[in-house]
Amino acid sequence: MNQINPYNDAIECLGEVAERYNIDEKDIEILKHPKKILMVNFPVHTSKGLKVISGYRVQYNDALGPTKGGLRFHPHVDIEGVKALAFWMTLKNAILDLPYGGAKGGITIDPQEFTEHDLEEISREYIRQIHLFIGPAKDIPAPDVYTNPKIMGWMMDEFGKIKGEHVPAMITGKPLSIGGSQARSYSTAMGGFFVLREALAKYKINPLQTKTAIHGFGNAGMNLAKIMDSNNMTVVAVSDSKGGIYNENGLNIESLIKHKKETRSVVDFAGAKPLTNNDILELNVDILVPAALENAITKSNAGNINAKIILELANGPITFKADKILYEKKIVVLPDILANAGGVTVSYFEWMQNLYGARWTEEEILKKLDDRMKTAFDELYDNYVSESYVDFRTAAYVYAIKKIIQAEKDRGRI
Ligand code: GLU
Repeated sequence: MNQINPYNDAIECLGEVAERYNIDEKDIEILKHPKKILMVNFPVHTSKGLKVISGYRVQYNDALGPTKGGLRFHPHVDIEGVKALAFWMTLKNAILDLPYGGAKGGITIDPQEFTEHDLEEISREYIRQIHLFIGPAKDIPAPDVYTNPKIMGWMMDEFGKIKGEHVPAMITGKPLSIGGSQARSYSTAMGGFFVLREALAKYKINPLQTKTAIHGFGNAGMNLAKIMDSNNMTVVAVSDSKGGIYNENGLNIESLIKHKKETRSVVDFAGAKPLTNNDILELNVDILVPAALENAITKSNAGNINAKIILELANGPITFKADKILYEKKIVVLPDILANAGGVTVSYFEWMQNLYGARWTEEEILKKLDDRMKTAFDELYDNYVSESYVDFRTAAYVYAIKKIIQAEKDRGRI
């Protein structure tokens, strides 16, 4: 993904947390290794000729149930990154009390280089390659970076053809017409918003008097901007892979989304100053939302971060070393394994609806999501205060690790 190996970073964090909070070294050994890894290399006849495509699926830990986690299409996908993402999914699902273990998958391609037909061929072939490894009671994929409901629909269709039956619960984040759930398309951002709302209340910060910068304007970042805007909060800066923009009085989010849809970038939005992707992270704002990829905040820029609260909508945007610098600076970090868990939580609701043949309304889903996110936040906040944990990430790690180890023990595996 880049020079910092996110998997080593995550395991270093796990080791430190376990040592500091007296979790038995023997018990955490099982969490230091992914249980199953599948790598596939398969040829596809694309519009650019024959290409051999590499894909992965890592099932990190299944003590709490079938493994669950997204699937990304990105040119930087590699095994170390997918292992880290699968590890974080394992913790995330435990924190939200979902009956799932953790997994992640990826295909190493730049989707912008391929036609829609190519992407469909690649998606279907990936499922043909891994179908024995996945299923509603085994491992359930979902969207992640640069994958979407359409791709989930192709994958479900291909899986159904192989099995000779309809199996909608084998994947989540599908289009509504074929078993997708209401609110799934914006659930990562919505879950993050609920966590932020709770944190601001605890720290007695009035949301209407805050300024927010959002780094990354994909599904999570764009939807969060929309939700904040409709709750009268001020978003002053956003960026995407092409660059950033800033207006200290707040951006007009509705026009910005229109501009992004028309030009495929936020850059050159009227009435805003240009900024680089790094500048946006260092802005003097109350709330900073890293919503792009891993390793956005490292030890080289952590010292320059000025926000009071960081809401991690991306997975792994802050490295282990950077986290310590932010802690010294007394910046509150709402960790990814809680803050971006709204996506997988609504995926769980989708999976349940599929298994029951049910359809829940948007209102019902949002109420359930709010309850889950609030309960998870309250639990971590209470532990953080009562156990004097150094930060929320540590509280989250300890909570999840203990729960998974208990399940491993109750299964008689360790
Ligand atoms: N890709 C999302 C995540 O990182 C969602 C996973 C899911 O819905 O299974 O949490």
